[in-house]
Order: sequence, then C-alpha cells, then structure tokens
Amino acid sequence: MGTKIKKADFIYDEITKLFPNAKCELNYRKDYELLIAIMLSAQTTDISVNKVTETLFEKYHSVADFANAELKELENDIRRIGLFRNKSKNVKAMAEIIVNDFNLTIPNTQVELEGLPGVGRKTANVFLAEFYRIPRIAVDTHVSRVSKRLRFAKETDTPEKIEEKLKKAFPKYKWISLHHKFIFFGRYFCKAKKPGCLHCPIIKYCKNPII
Ligand code: SF4
Repeated sequence: MGTKIKKADFIYDEITKLFPNAKCELNYRKDYELLIAIMLSAQTTDISVNKVTETLFEKYHSVADFANAELKELENDIRRIGLFRNKSKNVKAMAEIIVNDFNLTIPNTQVELEGLPGVGRKTANVFLAEFYRIPRIAVDTHVSRVSKRLRFAKETDTPEKIEEKLKKAFPKYKWISLHHKFIFFGRYFCKAKKPGCLHCPIIKYCKNPII
C-alpha cells in the first residue's frame, strides 16, 4: 500500500471515528427543496437556512409556487439570510426554468444543473451527491481549508483543483461521505479559528498545527 493511500485511509478512518454520522445538515423533502436550500446556503450557515426554509417550504408547496412567486414577497420571506435579494431572484428564475423546460423535475446532470441561475459547480455537486447519490466531491470553505491543512492541496489551489486532487486521493465510493466528513471536521473540529489541534488524531499529517 503506498504512503498516499495509507495517509488517505488513515485520515478518512480517524475523521469517521470523530463524526460517524456526518451527513447533509440541510432539511428538505423534495428535489427542488434541496436545490433551493443549497442555493440559500451560500455564505451562510445551514442552521440559518433551516430556520428560513421551515416556514418557506410550508408557504410554497411546489416548484411552480416558487416560479409564480412575487419577487418582493419572496425577498421578504428569506430576508433573514445574507444576499437575500440575489438569492430570491435566482430561486424564482431557476424555478421558472424547471417548470418550463424540465417538467417540474430538477435535472441530474452537471451541465443542466450548472445552466440554472444561481447554480455553480459546488451547488451542482452537492445536489447530485445528496439527491441522486452520484459520486461527487463539493469543495466549500471547510473542505478547502481542511484539504490545504492536510496537504491534499496547495494554498493557491482553486476549488476545482482541490476537487480534482481529492478525487485522485480517495476512491470513488468514498467521495460522497468524504465530502460530509471533511465538512463536519472543518465545521466542528478543524475550525478556521481555534482548531482543536491539541486533540487532533491526524496531527501528523497537518501542515501547520496551532499549539
Ligand atoms: S492539527 Fe489542527 S489544524 Fe491540523 S488538521 Fe488537526 S485540527 Fe486541523
């Protein structure tokens, strides 16, 4: 077994011990609810998104309801989260396309998803992995930070480059769970400020422990 594989396995296993139940923390019941929740989650916490969607999804019962929403009213419905004007515009425009061009079903391909307003590579990856269980690694701020600290990526790497490197380092069947594990590890342990280095089980692979 090569050193790189050993390292990847070791890190994966140790983070699994810390967070055996790492999973998507956004609440949803249907495909469009998940996509909207991911779109709303940009630069805000999943907890804030869940607070907003709890009432939002009670008010709007279908993707068609979002397509037909009054923009000002939708803005008001999500104004508690950041970037609400832009997000409400994108959610409405996305919903209109799903109604008009996709027969009310969120597509399952990267190209079609990334063609929707407000949906970039990261959002498409999260959606495909979570809803359709298609192997993907979405690189958000936590995945990026953890990958760099653990030397899977360089400081200057773009999210696309980090994604590419992680896909090479880990077998495909682990991609979806790795994404969740790195997010949990970054969110709750290897935080941007004050990471838990003193008790970190993978410190030997870390570029710059803070102790
Ligand atoms: S040693 Fe600290 S910075 Fe490094 S991976 Fe562990 S928690 Fe993160």
